[in-house]
Amino acid sequence: MQEIETQWLRPLQPAICEHCDWNYVLPPVAEMPICPHCYQTTLTPLTEDDLGQISSPEQVVPFSVAADRVQEQLSNFARSFRFTPQDLQAARLAGRLRRVFIPTWLVDSEVTAGWQAEAGFDYQVVSHQESFKQGSWRTKEVQETRIRWEARAGQLQRHYDNVRAPALEEIGDVEDKLGSFTSKEAAPYRQEMLEETLVRLPNRDHVDAWPDTHPRFQQLASIECQKAAGADHIRHYQWQAHYDNQHWSLLLLPFYSTWYLDDEQQPIPVLLHGRTGQLSGIKRASMKKAKRTTTIAAILAGLFFLLTLALYWLEPSLTCVTAVLTFLVGIGAILPIAYVSQFNRDQEADVPITKSI
Ligand SMILES: [Zn+2]
Repeated sequence: MQEIETQWLRPLQPAICEHCDWNYVLPPVAEMPICPHCYQTTLTPLTEDDLGQISSPEQVVPFSVAADRVQEQLSNFARSFRFTPQDLQAARLAGRLRRVFIPTWLVDSEVTAGWQAEAGFDYQVVSHQESFKQGSWRTKEVQETRIRWEARAGQLQRHYDNVRAPALEEIGDVEDKLGSFTSKEAAPYRQEMLEETLVRLPNRDHVDAWPDTHPRFQQLASIECQKAAGADHIRHYQWQAHYDNQHWSLLLLPFYSTWYLDDEQQPIPVLLHGRTGQLSGIKRASMKKAKRTTTIAAILAGLFFLLTLALYWLEPSLTCVTAVLTFLVGIGAILPIAYVSQFNRDQEADVPITKSI
């Protein structure tokens, strides 16, 4: 672990989840934790040689969401649907909460490019609007902004820092569901930021991730060319870029992960954004609870039926009421099962991020 320690400025243990194949580094612990992604198995320790080179982070977005906000989010989730499983309780979710950093690449590069674009310049046009009010015509002066487009071209030689590229195949889904992170939130890496936190390692290498940076480099260049031209707008920006001296590092993004057990005792992961507390998790209603409610309603319907039979001999005028009650409770008895079955089907249709990452 010598190389990791040198790069990350602290001893770290590489580990893998044999079930979902997620790789991590984490501060050394007496007992390996359960995988905070799939919650199916305990992590297996690895040696540094098993994983190859593990880049250290340059920047980290620190955890900052307030504890009461996390608590509120977990409580809301635990009561956000009917027939929740026995294990889905806010206190249990809170007790199982783990901090996880997810990586994204930061790329610095020199860029040399020839470019062409249309630069837009605002100008004002004065026109007049006529309207007929209170028996006479009135004229109103109207100022309108229009854009004059001019072709521009030039050469550019620049250095750009910290252009982001996904280090995980699945990071887009995570940020879509939980919200993204701005570069302003990032701080230089300090080794104490990893206290009691697992760090997910990239599953995309530089070769895979590199093409994803190109649109952002181009966007940065087009903003600069617009400024250089003194233009208010720029469009149809095209360039032929040549990249040199790339430097890759990692930015770590903070998430909380927790879980609850469904009816089949399968762990269902729940994720929270480490800055805003926004939560995303699969909601799985309990068929066991629904069946219990259905059984109680069916027994009640049976009792009403027996009452109806008894009243038929004793007080025939009341049988109508008890017969209707028997019918309504009998029909109502199937609703819990129908609800849970439909609810769980709808949830599966919505792609769960914790399954996809
Ligand atoms: Zn796993």
